[in-house]
Amino acid sequence: KPNTPTLENYWMPFTANRQFKAAPRLLAAADGMYYTTDDGRRVLDGTAGLWCVNAGHGRRRIAEAVERQLSTMDYAPCFNMGHPIAFDFAEKLAAIAPGGPEAQLDRVFFTGSGSESVETALKIAIAYQRAIGQGTRTRIIGREKAYHGVGFGGISVGGLVNNRRVFPQIPADHMRHTLDISRNAFTKGLPEHGAELADDLERLVALHGAETIAAVIVEPMSGSAGVILPAKGYLERLREIATRHGILLIFDEVITGFGRVGTPFATDYFGVVPDIVTTAKGITNGTIPMGAVFTKRAVHDALMTGPENAIELFHGYTYSGHPVACAAGLATLEVYAEENLLTRGGALAETWQETMHALKGLPHIIDIRNIGLVAGIELEPRPGAPGARAYEVFLDCFAKGVLIRATGDVLAISPPLIIEPAQITEIADRVAEALRRVA
Ligand code: PMP
Repeated sequence: KPNTPTLENYWMPFTANRQFKAAPRLLAAADGMYYTTDDGRRVLDGTAGLWCVNAGHGRRRIAEAVERQLSTMDYAPCFNMGHPIAFDFAEKLAAIAPGGPEAQLDRVFFTGSGSESVETALKIAIAYQRAIGQGTRTRIIGREKAYHGVGFGGISVGGLVNNRRVFPQIPADHMRHTLDISRNAFTKGLPEHGAELADDLERLVALHGAETIAAVIVEPMSGSAGVILPAKGYLERLREIATRHGILLIFDEVITGFGRVGTPFATDYFGVVPDIVTTAKGITNGTIPMGAVFTKRAVHDALMTGPENAIELFHGYTYSGHPVACAAGLATLEVYAEENLLTRGGALAETWQETMHALKGLPHIIDIRNIGLVAGIELEPRPGAPGARAYEVFLDCFAKGVLIRATGDVLAISPPLIIEPAQITEIADRVAEALRRVA
């Protein structure tokens, strides 16, 4: 029997499609690949929660680790204190750090979310420049359509204008989203001219002066803007330009980290090594809120070796390295390793791609994009009602037992990495039926 409490006191997070005014679907339980709704229906999870439940729901091992940690030590501060479980988790993360051992991206700073990871990365980048005598480098360059969470730093460098529309005065000048490094550089279908598009960064450097720019931040795969992939050569060229001008490169891997694109990190997939990588979501399989920022050793050392630097920089959270989150994270990494989940998306990518691309030709579809176990199915917007059609497809699929996500006019699909081929087909079938039904 559905137990639907009143929504009166619950303030729903703001989303871009609240104009559709539908009551939230209510989820009551989760196990493996499935949610159970509050009225007892099973729904196949085609979104891994919110790009985070990479090992599937209800993993006993994670639950037991959390329970054990809660009864051993529920909380401990991280300022001038420590606890072995945080050191242990940092060491395990370092062992699988983006780019492998040569990349030296193995200094790990713990946060409580993706947004906090982004704020942390931006502050580290500016503080690092200052520590090496480049104190005029305070500008951060972001990319059009980029999503970097909801902190003021993240919306300042983010490229989804709606996310900061009511805060026009807030983005600090030194962080303002300046650029347009790439109006088209993140594209449909990986065209060959990525390197050329990255030259927009070169133009921005000429415009502002390299001596004002601390870092450039990009999502290696743009998730929230609708699964948009970088053009070939784009990230390589960004790396080259940034290095040449003393600019740090930050990859926001909050979505792509922990196996989503078929390699442990997108850094590994594209073979381009940034200086800082932000993560969250899959780090604890979505169980306990947590994030981590990986930095190059050189970045860490510049900030932590001179006592004068340590005094200048204050940054950290009450929940940095939370022992229960670390316990969840350690158990999560064990599950990922035992079931080869950080590369399973790569093994399934061909099946995934074939199944998703077989939808081509169905009503409304104008583009299908995929990488690892992610697909973005872009629909022709309904005239005068952007996003409405995708939202209706989402509702239809949910009613028929499959959870997908509508982000603007794109259907985003990113299931837990434990998905079986038959379930991939099931998702595609429900999407196909919904597309035939909606106007
Ligand atoms: N960066 C990226 C690339 C994201 O996709 C997200 C969330 N979807 C964030 C940052 C923010 O993470 P959180 O919602 O955990 O704050």
